[in-house]
Amino acid sequence: MAFCDYHACDRCGERKTFYDANMNFEDQPDGSYTYDGHRVFALCHECAKTHEIVIQVKPARVKAAKVGEEYFPW
Ligand SMILES: [Zn+2]
Repeated sequence: MAFCDYHACDRCGERKTFYDANMNFEDQPDGSYTYDGHRVFALCHECAKTHEIVIQVKPARVKAAKVGEEYFPW
């Protein structure tokens, strides 16, 4: 199967994870993927040997303002 038929590893982006050709993924502006509105993360077998995906509470949202090309929270 072609590389584009798989979800690319969210760490290295160079290896396949799971077959997603039949799923309707949506590329997000921040580079993430969503499926039916849910964020999707996966690691390839090599990255899973040394890394893990952690679920944690998000930090409090703060307002951000764009200054030049960078975003600064205030
Ligand atoms: Zn990887």
